[in-house]
Amino acid sequence: MSANTLRKAKKLVDSGEVVKIEEDLYQIKSSSDPNKSYFVTSDTCECLGFKNFYKFHHGKGLMANCSHLEAVRIFKKEK
Ligand SMILES: [Zn+2]
Repeated sequence: MSANTLRKAKKLVDSGEVVKIEEDLYQIKSSSDPNKSYFVTSDTCECLGFKNFYKFHHGKGLMANCSHLEAVRIFKKEK
């Protein structure tokens, strides 16, 4: 997990971009396109970074991560 991912995640939480829809379902605005948002649960995300992670690291037993997933983690800790 890069420090950059963490910083982006914290910023999403701080600027109120993380919205809880229901238990374990969150909507997070895209930082690159304000008209776009992603639905995120505690272990999946719709964004390209998340999908690409498994493409590039397939079979290494790693858990995919992205700034949105991390933002949900921070959000849950703080609220
Ligand atoms: Zn994501």
